[in-house]
Amino acid sequence: MTDTDLVVIGGGFAGCLAAIRAVDAGLRVVLAEKREYPGREFAAFNHTFVDLEGEERFHRECPQWLARLFSMRDDQEVMVPDGLTRQWLIEALEASGVTVLYSAMATGLTQDDKGVTGVLLATPLGVMHLPTSRVVDATERHNLCRIVAGKPYASGTVRVDAVFEMENIQGLSAGFEAVEEKLSLIRGSLRIHPTIRKDTTVIEFSYMEKAGKPFAARSGLETRRIARSGEVAAALREQIPGFENASLSHHAYDALLSGEPIDPPEITGLMAVHSLRWRFSLGDVAQSWEQAGAVAKWACQDAVDRRGVERLRIGAAVIPFDRTALAIYEDDGLKVELSRFDVSVIQHQLFAFEADICVVGSGSGGGMAMLAAAESGKSVAVIEVNTLMGGTHTVGRVTGYYDGYRSGMNDSVGEKAKAFVQPTGKHEGHGGIPHASYLNDRVVQLGVQVFTASFACGALMEGTRLTGVVAANEDGLFGIRAHVTIDATGHADMVAFAGGDYEIGDPETGMVQSYSMWGAELYPVQNHFMHRFLRDPGICHPDLYSERLRAIRDGHLGNSSFHISPMVTVRESRRIVGEHYLTVRDLLDDRVYDDVIAVACTRADSHAYTSSPLARLGGLGAGKEIKVRIPLGCYIPKGIEGLFVAAKALSGERDATSFCRMNADVKNAGYAIGLAAAMAVDNRSDVRNIDLPALQSTLKTLGILPEWAFAAPVLPDIDQLANKCSLEDEEALIALLRRPGHDALPVLERLYQEGKRGYVAHALAWFGSDLGGEQLAALLTDAIEQGQHRVLPNLNMNFALFRWGHHYGDDYTLVNRLIVLAGRSGHEATIGPLARLIADTEGFGDQHPGIAPYYTLREDIPRYPFFTRLLNIAYAAAEKTDQRLAPAMDMLLSRPGVTGYVTELHSAGHPQFMLAHAEISLARAAARCGSSVGLKALSAYLNDTHSFFRRTARRELGFALRQE
Ligand SMILES: Cc1cc2nc3c(=O)[nH]c(=O)nc-3n(C[C@H](O)[C@H](O)[C@H](O)COP(=O)(O)OP(=O)(O)OC[C@H]3O[C@@H](n4cnc5c(N)ncnc54)[C@H](O)[C@@H]3O)c2cc1C
Repeated sequence: MTDTDLVVIGGGFAGCLAAIRAVDAGLRVVLAEKREYPGREFAAFNHTFVDLEGEERFHRECPQWLARLFSMRDDQEVMVPDGLTRQWLIEALEASGVTVLYSAMATGLTQDDKGVTGVLLATPLGVMHLPTSRVVDATERHNLCRIVAGKPYASGTVRVDAVFEMENIQGLSAGFEAVEEKLSLIRGSLRIHPTIRKDTTVIEFSYMEKAGKPFAARSGLETRRIARSGEVAAALREQIPGFENASLSHHAYDALLSGEPIDPPEITGLMAVHSLRWRFSLGDVAQSWEQAGAVAKWACQDAVDRRGVERLRIGAAVIPFDRTALAIYEDDGLKVELSRFDVSVIQHQLFAFEADICVVGSGSGGGMAMLAAAESGKSVAVIEVNTLMGGTHTVGRVTGYYDGYRSGMNDSVGEKAKAFVQPTGKHEGHGGIPHASYLNDRVVQLGVQVFTASFACGALMEGTRLTGVVAANEDGLFGIRAHVTIDATGHADMVAFAGGDYEIGDPETGMVQSYSMWGAELYPVQNHFMHRFLRDPGICHPDLYSERLRAIRDGHLGNSSFHISPMVTVRESRRIVGEHYLTVRDLLDDRVYDDVIAVACTRADSHAYTSSPLARLGGLGAGKEIKVRIPLGCYIPKGIEGLFVAAKALSGERDATSFCRMNADVKNAGYAIGLAAAMAVDNRSDVRNIDLPALQSTLKTLGILPEWAFAAPVLPDIDQLANKCSLEDEEALIALLRRPGHDALPVLERLYQEGKRGYVAHALAWFGSDLGGEQLAALLTDAIEQGQHRVLPNLNMNFALFRWGHHYGDDYTLVNRLIVLAGRSGHEATIGPLARLIADTEGFGDQHPGIAPYYTLREDIPRYPFFTRLLNIAYAAAEKTDQRLAPAMDMLLSRPGVTGYVTELHSAGHPQFMLAHAEISLARAAARCGSSVGLKALSAYLNDTHSFFRRTARRELGFALRQE
């Protein structure tokens, strides 16, 4: 860990170039960018169109790597697709050694009498302090300078330069003046550009708009810009020949808000630089390069060594800065030392808005919670990182969806959204543009206080009661006080800030399902579902900043060159520990609750990481939908008042909550939580004391709670299932395994004593009985002798097994089941055949073209036929922890291709992270059986790039040492 010589704020071109030139000059540089990508507005949409003016100077003065960025051109201009812009900037920053902190917004400075001593960065992990004596503000409107000078981000009238995309334009037309006039746009600003993608056209337009009040200015301008994009698209369709069938297919993630930069305040160590203007030219890039050289020179001046009395400048407030408010932020994956800043020390200095309800995050859950609360007449504030609302379901590109209980408010809001965007063209699905545009419009209609392009970074607390949110945007840090806060971040960020308990991933290894960063196919494809470029490049630990940064980096590289999502979308993040803890047992028993407020309905889908072995055997649904009733308590974090969670982060075991993450279900649940919050406001009560019967009655009327939410089906009779089991009925076996052991075991034992066989021994082993162990051992021995353990799975089986929990009745499935059951059986006889099978397993097998993940680019589901087999072996060996298995595990781990998946740099581009997970699971199991090869394999992971793997390795090796 080294000191930082220079911090550059803002990762647009100017900021990136300044950072790179400063590193070239020998400095240690950190670049802080508020978005999840570099390149600012120019990478926020489709293509950057660059004027050729100054081309000669550009080529004369700028380096080769920079020229690559601007190499795609026609006679008129350079065109760089947004994805490539981001990818090439990421590569250039990485190659030069700049440390980049994404999702980091500068919100203040610390200084002493001689100048800057550090910068305050708001991040999703909290507010952090980064010590440095030089800071360059490279943001478009010199945001940091404005904050420390106490001047608003925007005031008066500003020029907004906006862009969106239309598909299916029949020929380029003229006559845009009429549209400009009708919509009061700046004359000559409405321009269309054909793009590299064949049927896609970019529409640019500009207009003047009044900025709103401090802290709400940017979001107000962006909300209006999104609405205006819809208006421009509708007017073009109506008035311009060739546009009749065109549709608005994409909104920009940001607008460019021009305006005069301010003179930086006179603080030694703070400098401001120009960023690139709208419609910049190659000459401007050359100018930026020269400017970057000047920054490097300035930053190389001798840093003063001092530690005098420090002050903190946040907006108008300049207060004493006490370093006891800092605590080292522990993250061994981070290249720079940050300290967490305790926001409670400044909570009284913050300007605070008031609302009945504050919704944090406007994704699937939050968007609906916000609608419900506002439609109930409550004053609502919403905080959202992105400028477009809707989260994973809109900008995250998960726009269509399978599974989920789709009725209720999910459907009715979806239909309203589609109707709302009709004038701008046809749209399929309930997510994407319709949902984002509809939410954008509804917040204005309902008078919601909107803070988009803002993020929550702390909690306002009074004892254990959450009284509001600390948020950050271009105007700096501010507060929102509310009677009820709804944490809809999907990560339970607010619960974490408030000090609530939560869990992450698998209880043994912490592993979570893969995250995504989807782009669009560069060329049009027929099916709108396939308009996505599906990339699931890895796993991300939500509690570590370094992991979030790696997710952003890996999410970009190897991705589409076009329309990469502005956010990392995660299937699985933190799970709160709530008043009710949903268990897999609850699901299996079809439990009903008096305080049910939501339902979920889906097939098992945990992307290759089930924690419960029953899921691997097909016992969680066996490919069919499971209906889940969810009680209110799952959305209330234990020990905190005034806070609901309305997103996928609900409380429960991971395999149970993974049944509750489908879009339609999260949307319906979000609406229910919004109504519950409104009730708590009406009664001035805590979220725990609402009128449940009244809420449930409304939810029934809205279709959110169907009849089955209140009535459990009659569970199949255990005697019957057990009898069918004895006749080798696989479905009956799987159904029986779902039942509680104390009910099933006596029946099975009786049948076994009566001489019934079939699958009775399977079921007995599942419930951990010794009885039937000999038969199980014999079955496993037979399977090995007949070579069943070498039989390949049915085509598509890996895929289906992981995602849906199917069972196929083939030899592959049978052997997998026998392995798991042998692991669970307490009988000695199973050890020998299990060891034999392990020793006779060759490894993952050759890549198998038939094992097709649903689209060819998926990286989270390896195509190795015996991948699942090895996971099952790891499970069985870890259950047994028997030294007699160690030699076999040694052999397996020595097979070619089983080890060697340590992720030294990054795992993007292939399923290495999945194979690493399998390797570490095997190594862990082997080490627990006393295998030295297992210990060696674990040691290799001690410094792995993934925190999941290094933590598991460290813990397991520590465990092994203690055993000795
Ligand atoms: C790749 C992928 C594919 C999927 N496929 C399907 C599918 O086919 N079918 C299906 O039904 N479901 C699918 N899902 C699941 C479903 O989309 C999600 O579970 C659901 O969208 C989660 O909603 P949410 O509200 O919990 O989170 P999100 O929709 O992610 O919303 C969280 C919101 O909070 C914002 N936010 C986060 N932190 C902060 C902060 N600190 N301050 C302010 N704002 C913040 C985010 O920007 C975002 O807008 C998929 C999920 C993923 C990731």
